[in-house]
Amino acid sequence: MLIHNKLFKGESYFCIECQKEILETEVNKVTWSCEVCQKKIMIDVQDEKDVKLVRLYPKEMNENDEVYDARKRELHKLKGIKLGENECKIGIKDYRTCTFKYTDLINCEWNEQ
Ligand SMILES: [Zn+2]
Repeated sequence: MLIHNKLFKGESYFCIECQKEILETEVNKVTWSCEVCQKKIMIDVQDEKDVKLVRLYPKEMNENDEVYDARKRELHKLKGIKLGENECKIGIKDYRTCTFKYTDLINCEWNEQ
């Protein structure tokens, strides 16, 4: 499973709030938010299943988020998120609990962020 720090070939970016496409060169790759309205950017990974993603840091996630496995190209629900002092444990349904740094960017299904 590969759910973090992974970009896909041919991604395109949209701001729902501003209702406009954001060029790859204009994307803030630290916040993954729109520079105009500060809302999260919706990412189209050109997947055949038409999955839209959002890149979130562990502290921006909640237990209702679904993570996107770049290897199998499928979404997984979560069992829980535990925020520790230096790292965070994310329980992934039908998989296992994985440990991430707070600087890791997790590919999650777009959920009206
Ligand atoms: Zn915007």
